[in-house]
Amino acid sequence: MGTLRDLQLALREKVEELRQRDSLIDELEMELDEKDALIQTLQNELDKYRSVMKPEIIIPNKSLTTTLGSRPKRLAISAEPDRINSLHAISLKRTEKKQSSKELIKRAILDNDFMRKLDMSQIREIVDCMYPVEYAENSLIIKEGDIGSLVYVMEEGKVEVSKEGQKLCAMGPGKVFGELAILYNCTRTASVRALTTCRLWAIDRPCFQSIMMRTGLLRHSEHMAFLRSVPTFMTLPEENLSKIADVLEETHYEDGEYIIRQGARGDTFYIIAKGMVKVTKKVNGTQQEQLIRVLQKGDFFGEKALQGDDLRTANILAADPTGVDCLVLDRECYSQLIGNIGNVKRVYEDDVAVSSLDPEFSKLKLSDLKVLTTLGVGGFGRVELVQIKEDNDRTFALKEMRKQHIVETRQQEHILNEKKIMAEARSNFIVRLFKTFKDKKHLYMLLEVCLGGELWTILRDKGSFDDTTTRFYTGCVIEAFDYLHNKGVVYRDLKPENLLLDNQGYVKLVDFGFAKKIGHGRKTWTFCGTPEYVAPEIILNKGHDLSSDCWSLGILMFELLTGSPPFNGSDPMKTYNMILKGIDAVDFPRKITRSAQNLIKKLCRDNPTERLGYGRGGIREIQKHKWFEGFNWDGLLRGTMKAPITPTVSSPYDTSNFDTYPDIEEEEPPDDTSGWDKDF
Ligand code: ATP
Ligand code: MG
Repeated sequence: MGTLRDLQLALREKVEELRQRDSLIDELEMELDEKDALIQTLQNELDKYRSVMKPEIIIPNKSLTTTLGSRPKRLAISAEPDRINSLHAISLKRTEKKQSSKELIKRAILDNDFMRKLDMSQIREIVDCMYPVEYAENSLIIKEGDIGSLVYVMEEGKVEVSKEGQKLCAMGPGKVFGELAILYNCTRTASVRALTTCRLWAIDRPCFQSIMMRTGLLRHSEHMAFLRSVPTFMTLPEENLSKIADVLEETHYEDGEYIIRQGARGDTFYIIAKGMVKVTKKVNGTQQEQLIRVLQKGDFFGEKALQGDDLRTANILAADPTGVDCLVLDRECYSQLIGNIGNVKRVYEDDVAVSSLDPEFSKLKLSDLKVLTTLGVGGFGRVELVQIKEDNDRTFALKEMRKQHIVETRQQEHILNEKKIMAEARSNFIVRLFKTFKDKKHLYMLLEVCLGGELWTILRDKGSFDDTTTRFYTGCVIEAFDYLHNKGVVYRDLKPENLLLDNQGYVKLVDFGFAKKIGHGRKTWTFCGTPEYVAPEIILNKGHDLSSDCWSLGILMFELLTGSPPFNGSDPMKTYNMILKGIDAVDFPRKITRSAQNLIKKLCRDNPTERLGYGRGGIREIQKHKWFEGFNWDGLLRGTMKAPITPTVSSPYDTSNFDTYPDIEEEEPPDDTSGWDKDF
C-alpha cells in the first residue's frame, strides 16, 4: 500500500512544481510587459532627440591647418551621429557567429586602448553586431586618405600597415584597427594591405553609435521612470530629475545581506531596481528581528536621509536568491544637485529684453563696408578687418563663410546656432555680433573687433604664463561660461585660438561654431571640439552636457600654465586614448602649484557629474575654489581690474597683434540659393 502513498506524494510534488512554473511564467510575462513599456518610453525620448540629430559629417579640411612657426593651430572637428534620427529604426543587425569568433572579437576589443573602455554590455552588443568581410591577398583593406566608417577585427590572415609609402608594421589575428572611424568621419591616416587572404569582422559607425547611445538612453530613461514614482522627486523639474538620474549608482547586494541596519546613521537613499528586500525590526529588548513587510522593484527606502541625518528605524535585508540591485543616491550628491537652486545662480537681468541684432546697424548694407586687411583664417573662410565707409573712427571684424563649404561639411545647423547664440549674447566676455549678411555664395557676420590678437599668439610667444596671468584669463572665460551656462548654452570649443584680447587686454570668447542651446539637465551627442580639449564622454559617445565645458576649462588652465595641453598625442586617436586614461595619469610639472593642480583635477573628473561647476552652484562653484582666493571678481566684471598684459593697439586700424595672411586668389564658390540659410 506504500506505493499509493508514494504516488500521492509524487503527484503532490508534481502539482507544486507546475504551480511554481506557472508563477514563473507570470513573472516572465510581467517582466516582458515592463520591458515593452520601457521601450515605449525610450522611443518617446528618442523622438525628442530626433529633432536634434542631423545627418553626419564634417571633415576637417587638412589644407587649412595653419602652421605658424613650430606651433600648429588646431582645427576643430565635428561629426553628427550619422542619421541617428533613425536610431530607433536602425534595428541592430546581429550576425550569428561561432563561440570561438565571439571570444576572439571580445579579446581583441579588450586589448584595444579605446574600445576596452566601453561598458561590458556595449562590448557584447558590438560583438553580436559585427559582420564578416573577406579580402583577397594583396588587396587594400584601408587606404590612407580615404574617408572611413568601418572598424575591423581580424580573425584570420596577415596585414601590413604603411604610411606615406613607409611600412610601419605587420599585424596578425586578434587586433582591432581603423577605430578612429567610429568616432567621426575622418580620413584614414594609414593604409592596411592584406598579405594573405584575410577574414575580418567589421562594424560601421551608425551601428556603433546607436549601440553607444542606446545603452546610455535606456539606463537614463529607466532611472527617470523610477525617480518619477518617488514622492520626493515627483514634483521636481525635469532638469533636476535628469541630473539625479545620471548620478544614481547601481549597487548589488547578495541574498541575506544587510542594506541598512536599524539604529545606524546614514545619508543614503535607495530605490530597488531588481529583487526583493525584507524590512525587519528588533523585538523590544531582544535581539530577535520581526518581519514588518517586504519591498520590491520600484519601492524605495531611506528617503529621509536626503533631508538630514537619518537614524535608521528598521533593518533592510536583501531577500532574493539572485541578489538585489539598488539605485543609490547620497545626501551630498542630492543637495549638490538640488539644494536651493534659485539663490545660487546669478540672474542676468537683460536676458528677456535682448533677442536680436543691434538696431544701430539695421540699415547697413554689405556694400557700405570696406575691407582693410585679413585678421584670421579659419575652417570656413576668412575674417577681415573692415570699416563702414565714411566712418573712420572705428573698425569691425567681418567673418566670411563659404556656403558651399558649410553644406559640404553638413554644418548648416551649427552655423545657424552660431548666429542665434552670438546675436543674443550680451556679455563683456563674448565678442558681439552686430549684424549678419548673406549673398549667393557667402554668409557674413559683422563682429566687434578685438585688436589685441589671439591669446594663442601670446602664449606661443611667451611659452607659458604664471599663476596670476593664467588666473586672469581663466577668470574671463569663467565669466563667459557663467553667462552661457545660465542660458543653457554649451560652448564646446574652448582653446587659446578662440580667445581674443581687446584693447585693455581682457579676453573675449569668439567662434561659436559649436555652441548649442541644450538647456539644463539635457544632453547632446554630436562629436565636436578640438581633440586635445574634448571630454571623455564625448569620445565615448555617452552624450554630453554643460559639464564638458568645465572639463575644457581644466585643460585650458593646464595649457596656459605650461604651454601645452595635458593630453597631447601625436595623432587624434592617441590623444583620445590619453584622455580616456584620465587626468590622474598625467604628470603635473612642478610649476603648477598645488592649488592649481587641485582645481584642474576637480574640473577634469572622468565622471561629468562630479566636475566642479556642474552642481547646483553652477560655474560659481569654480569661482569659490581656493586657487581664486582673493581674486577681484568684481573688478573683472566691471573692467576696472588691470589686465596682466596690455596689448599695444595704436588705432582702430592697427593689426600688428595678428599674424599676416597672404592674399590668396580663391576660386569663386558656386551659387547656393537653396534657402537653407533663410534664418541667417
Ligand atoms: P570655425 O571654428 O567655426 O571654423 P573659424 O575658426 O573659421 O571658425 P573664427 O575662430 O571665428 O573662425 O575666426 C578665425 C580667426 O579670425 C580667429 O582665430 C581670430 O584670429 C580672427 N578673428 C575672428 N573674429 C575676430 C574678431 N572679432 N576680432 C579680431 N579677430 C577675429
Ligand atoms: Mg576658430
